[in-house]
Amino acid sequence: MLGSANADLVVAVPRRPAGGETVLGGDTVVLPGGKGANTAVAAARLGAEVAFVGAVGSDQYGELLRGSLSSSGVRTDFVRTSSRPTGLAYITVTPDGENAIVVAPGANSDVGVSDVEAVRWDDVSVLVCSLEVPVPTVAHAVEVAASRGVRPVLNLSPVVEVPAETLALLDPLIVNEHEAASLAPSFEGLPALGPKSAVVTLGSRGAAVVTPSGVVEVDAPVVSVVDTTGAGDAFAGALAVGLSSGWSLEESARFAVRVAALSVTSAGAQPSYPTLERVREDRK
Ligand code: ATP
Repeated sequence: MLGSANADLVVAVPRRPAGGETVLGGDTVVLPGGKGANTAVAAARLGAEVAFVGAVGSDQYGELLRGSLSSSGVRTDFVRTSSRPTGLAYITVTPDGENAIVVAPGANSDVGVSDVEAVRWDDVSVLVCSLEVPVPTVAHAVEVAASRGVRPVLNLSPVVEVPAETLALLDPLIVNEHEAASLAPSFEGLPALGPKSAVVTLGSRGAAVVTPSGVVEVDAPVVSVVDTTGAGDAFAGALAVGLSSGWSLEESARFAVRVAALSVTSAGAQPSYPTLERVREDRK
């Protein structure tokens, strides 16, 4: 997995402050996050061997993030300590449950081509990249992976401009419904952007798998939703686990939909990701 690692600093506030105003909030809750780290943790919980490629600062938050990755079984030997501070997301939550978020990318902006060059690719079968790290780094990683016979997957969230050569190597491109709509007029139009395949996540409606032979929709199970934070990252991590097990894209998407649905039934991003045992129990 290559992508961002952030510490989420979450504070409940009675209302959002206006410019120049101060509002008192509750106690700060610090949680491990960032799309890349979330995806790595989701895949590792499912029993896959996972390494995370990224950067954190030499501060308490960097320690927190290294610790959460390692304790989930993610290898951190390709996590560099940057001279920039660890990426932080400042999240205020109002009583209506709405979040307002400021992200200070810090060390994530510093993940570069040399970090990709440091990776040992032996026994790697799938590379998942997410954004929130520089696009040229992602483009390089996708190119190197493909040249080594590693299957490149990109979760294009947030949507940014990616070189056509990079898009052409993806198998699949993952986007959510809103991201898909900003890229193409219909799901059938996504292959025209260049990827070998695409998967569109559809929230409570599951996902759509788009290949040159057409679109297959995969329904999500009906669950009682507690918190959807990080559901997309759980989906990407589980999809990669399916692909690395040799399953078809459709089979992998069916698995990912079940894993992501379980993740929305408990609070938080990383703490909500199920183990393989939990997924199997759920099937019974
Ligand atoms: P986020 O930004 O919250 O991480 P996202 O917008 O990237 O999410 P979604 O399409 O909302 O992605 O959700 C990803 C996956 O999570 C879906 O494909 C589905 O499997 C699961 N999921 C999300 N919401 C629900 C729900 N209400 N019920 C069941 N499954 C859900």
